[in-house]
Amino acid sequence: MKVVILRLGHRYARDKRLSSHVALTARAFGASEIVFDAVDSGVKQSVERLNELWGNGFRVSFTDSWRKFVEGFEGDVVHLTMYGLPLSKVVGKIGKSRRDKLVIVGSQKVPSEVYHLADFNVSVGCQPHSEVAALAVFLDRLFDGKELLKNFKGRKVIVPQAVGKKVVDIN
Ligand code: SAM
Repeated sequence: MKVVILRLGHRYARDKRLSSHVALTARAFGASEIVFDAVDSGVKQSVERLNELWGNGFRVSFTDSWRKFVEGFEGDVVHLTMYGLPLSKVVGKIGKSRRDKLVIVGSQKVPSEVYHLADFNVSVGCQPHSEVAALAVFLDRLFDGKELLKNFKGRKVIVPQAVGKKVVDIN
């Protein structure tokens, strides 16, 4: 099962850092690709630099029509929104199907059409918070925590320590 993230409403100056964090969170929590509805080569470059060092081959791409992208996606479409059904009620059903997943997160107000295009509108608690938090919790529940054990096969690997930092260079 491949998981692709669609980040809607990216605004260049205001969202640059947050959009990078959405991408890094998606990568670290088991997604394989993020698609933005606005071209921002800075975000793409910073994720690719990180990929190069820490591994994984996570992809960043752009679409000029998010609607066509969603409609053409072959798999289940999940929209994260505080107005949706509770995560704990629907995650079992979403994970049961091995079909690929498209997970949509917003930044500003999400067009109402998205609620109708989605197969699942899912809330991570019914309070407003952040797309980064919502995505991390959703992916962790979808993968049942196993994504955190994944080997990224990078040039550098962290050896967990009780105190201090240990990083090994892989040749
Ligand atoms: N006022 C905006 C709206 O009505 O969509 C909320 C914007 S919020 C800052 C940005 C994104 O974070 C949302 O589009 C949604 O994807 C995600 N998000 C925030 N809180 C959430 C929650 N409780 N459950 C699921 N997703 C959430």
